[in-house]
Amino acid sequence: MSVKREIKCPHCNEWTLWRGEIYDRCLYCGEFLQNEDFTKKVENEIREQVKEENDIFFVKPSDSKFIGVSKRFLRKFRKFAVFAQAALIAFMSLLLWIIGMMST
Ligand SMILES: [Zn+2]
Repeated sequence: MSVKREIKCPHCNEWTLWRGEIYDRCLYCGEFLQNEDFTKKVENEIREQVKEENDIFFVKPSDSKFIGVSKRFLRKFRKFAVFAQAALIAFMSLLLWIIGMMST
């Protein structure tokens, strides 16, 4: 059973249709209809996006195609570098452990 009712949009104060879904938007201004959880989720996504925009390798719309491609490559490479570092640390500790075992 779907709830269909008219509610007043909290953003533009127009009466709009609400079906009780969290992703329902106002028919007039396109804003989401008062769901705090969903708003928080969207806010978090925006915050994540802002964090990414502060990243030096973030591809800006003003970047040329070549810069965009190289930035994307560098980001992938950096991810790989972090992984490789973690693997190296794991390998080193394993090596030290083996040395420790052998010396006893
Ligand atoms: Zn509205």
